[in-house]
Amino acid sequence: MYIVPESAIADILTRRDAFEAIEKVFAAMSAGDAYNFPVIREAIGHEDALYGFKGGFDGKGMSLGLKAGGYWPHNLEQRGLINHQSTVFLFDADTGKVAAMVGGNLLTALRTAAASSVSIKHLARKDAKVMGMIGAGHQAKFQLRAALETHSFDKVIGWNRNPAALTTLADVAAEFGLPFEAVALDEMTQADVVISITSVFSPVFGAAHISAGTHVACMGTDTIGKQEAQTDLLAKATIFTDEIAQSVTLGEAQHVVAAGLKTRGDINELGAVINGAHAGRSADDEITLFDGTGVGLQDLAVSASIVEIAKAKGIGMEVDF
Ligand code: NAD
Repeated sequence: MYIVPESAIADILTRRDAFEAIEKVFAAMSAGDAYNFPVIREAIGHEDALYGFKGGFDGKGMSLGLKAGGYWPHNLEQRGLINHQSTVFLFDADTGKVAAMVGGNLLTALRTAAASSVSIKHLARKDAKVMGMIGAGHQAKFQLRAALETHSFDKVIGWNRNPAALTTLADVAAEFGLPFEAVALDEMTQADVVISITSVFSPVFGAAHISAGTHVACMGTDTIGKQEAQTDLLAKATIFTDEIAQSVTLGEAQHVVAAGLKTRGDINELGAVINGAHAGRSADDEITLFDGTGVGLQDLAVSASIVEIAKAKGIGMEVDF
């Protein structure tokens, strides 16, 4: 078994590698070459933690495995650890033998940011100028950095429940030489692209905060009961997702489907847009919404790249297991 510890990931995985792996695996999922297993996600009744497993098999890339981990909301304040904690295990698809163990924390941030960026590349208006952020926790800076690398914006605006945390996003905007403005939610209507990345169970924004023609990437909802956007926005928008089964059960679309305002058939795969099977945005005034639920195949695709690069660079270690 090859082990790549968390501390080595930053030297191995570039944002470009993550973007390419995610774009490719979304396309493979839509083409039927790769599939995710049903997600296990449990509130374990300890430390308010959500813990679970996301796995899958990519018969084209030959990745088989799972990511085990979840979200411990008190880690940062009480222990100085990030709230998301996870580890990826890869298996040999021919024999079932364990092949690799890879630190999953930075990997998750990079693959999640890559997913919203892939959605921006394929669904945002080409003339989008203002990038809006809702949320400023651990993942938000990764999301913003990847978005600013994917599309050329003129300005970044941001809202967070605790506005003091927005300085991290202002710093990322400054890395790209862009002005940053902290705004009230009502002013989010300035944005042409919005990424929401919060851990809320009650929605914080809706149709009143999003202008016609905007692309919204909802990246925070990955569990039954969570909801970032009010149902009126989901009902109005054309919804795309990484995986329809997850979108309607534990993603942002779960509530609009439960309310009977949309059906499973109304949800589209981003992979189909990448493959050219779906045209994507159909008009400049259409609101497109990417429901980024986070699938196991994203973790496996990025981990497989990490292991390959780590072996080539002599980083990590082989263990007889
Ligand atoms: P974090 O704990 O560092 O940040 C949480 C964010 O949510 C902060 O901006 C906080 O202000 C905001 N928030 C919390 N409660 C709020 C409330 N009641 N009202 C308004 N805002 C509130 O978390 P993180 O690591 O940045 O992750 C954010 C979310 O993304 C989590 O829900 C996590 O499970 C999810 N996530 C999704 C994926 C995916 O693939 N879709 C991957 C990783 C994480």
